[in-house]
Amino acid sequence: MPRSLINKIMDKVSGSKTSISALQSVRFQPEQIPHRRISKNALKVIERLQAKGYQGYLVGGGVRDLLLNMRPKDFDVATNATPEQVKACFGNARIIGRRFRLVHVRFGREIIEVATFRGNQDDSNKISMSKEGMLTRDNHWGSLDDDAVRRDFTVNALYYDSQSQQLLALPGGMEDLQTKVLRIIGDPSTRYREDPVRMLRAARFAVKLDFELDQQTRAPIPDLANLLQKIPAARLFDEVIKLLMSGRGLDTFRQCNELGLMAPMFPDSWQAMAQDDSGRLMATIEQGLMSTDQRIQAERPVTPAFLYALLLWPAVLHFWRYYHQRGKPGSTALNQAINHVLARHASFVAIPKRFSIPMREIWELQPRLTRTGKQRNLAVLNHGRYRAAYDFLLMRERSGEESSNYSKWWDQAWQEKQSSQFATNEPDPSANSGYRSQRARRPSNHGR
Ligand code: ATP
Ligand code: MG
Repeated sequence: MPRSLINKIMDKVSGSKTSISALQSVRFQPEQIPHRRISKNALKVIERLQAKGYQGYLVGGGVRDLLLNMRPKDFDVATNATPEQVKACFGNARIIGRRFRLVHVRFGREIIEVATFRGNQDDSNKISMSKEGMLTRDNHWGSLDDDAVRRDFTVNALYYDSQSQQLLALPGGMEDLQTKVLRIIGDPSTRYREDPVRMLRAARFAVKLDFELDQQTRAPIPDLANLLQKIPAARLFDEVIKLLMSGRGLDTFRQCNELGLMAPMFPDSWQAMAQDDSGRLMATIEQGLMSTDQRIQAERPVTPAFLYALLLWPAVLHFWRYYHQRGKPGSTALNQAINHVLARHASFVAIPKRFSIPMREIWELQPRLTRTGKQRNLAVLNHGRYRAAYDFLLMRERSGEESSNYSKWWDQAWQEKQSSQFATNEPDPSANSGYRSQRARRPSNHGR
């Protein structure tokens, strides 16, 4: 089918009141969707729903990733049963969410998310919209076809009935999957206005799947990027984590930045970087993301605190200088800058206290790590946040933002501290297990 015709159908489907049978059954080879690679619990949920007379499909990333021969992150289920009906089918289920009600069916540590088919948005009081056209509530139930056109991208609107082994896709959906094109369903601007997070998802999936962003899907993003400022700050916190802690954080960051999506979420930092001709502030963030990607690949722990500390560092530096120029002594100026940045930033992307406290410590330790001569205090080595702060300094040195080679000095000091503790057998508070003490003897391996 020619693309123009597909677009026409899509426009009609997303704009029309009547439900058009949009999904089509598509042929596939059974080995493309091997049941052994599907969560047993997701299969159980579908089986149970169907046994109770409801429809039940595996949907979204689970189906998409199997067809792409990738390992799905999770398995979502879509059904025509209402959340209450789903809950009644399972002893271990809980209704969650307000804006978007869902059921979580729990099996030990695994949760299967079950969503009721969403309907067309026309004349429903179960859908609320802000004056910018943003959906603030979407709990209007509909048919399977309605549900398909409410999803974000064609490759995310794939439905698999594991009982009858039938695969359903929107027209062009399978073609997009095969030709690796990420295409939003319906009119791109309208869909981004309804939910601006879809712009972040576009960047994330294009990188994760190694797909090309369809031209029309991409075009309106830079102009609409500011709408991200209307998204509840707590939701954006989660979205940024998904973007940057995926294992492809650096590429996703670059894609988002190119589309103008980072500046609205971190306005003070991006403003500070616009004034930094050297490009080193941006390079520090990129070094941190590269190191985070490497750690994720090596299955070493990473923390959002380190990432957010990087993203907000240009703003902290800016205001540190600002307060300092107005006569505040260095540490007071830094403290005020940190308070200012954290407070202002909370209205864009909310950072929970369990992360903002370590962020503050990482920042506060920076001047202590870059002192010279007698002012240097070895007690820093015993600080609970020393290793994260050291890693942070390393990123700043790699980017050239911090030109002296302080990390080398601290590396040596750390090594000496470890060997003297080892020699005197002085108990090291961090070395209470074999694994930790072994790590402590490897100074280059400064874990966070
Ligand atoms: P992954 O889990 O690998 O990140 P996914 O495609 O499964 O990818 P989820 O966030 O788990 O993404 O969402 C599941 C499905 O719900 C998506 O595939 C998509 O169909 C739909 N969806 C999620 N968020 C949105 C949104 N903001 N707008 C429209 N549809 C959405
Ligand atoms: Mg998913």
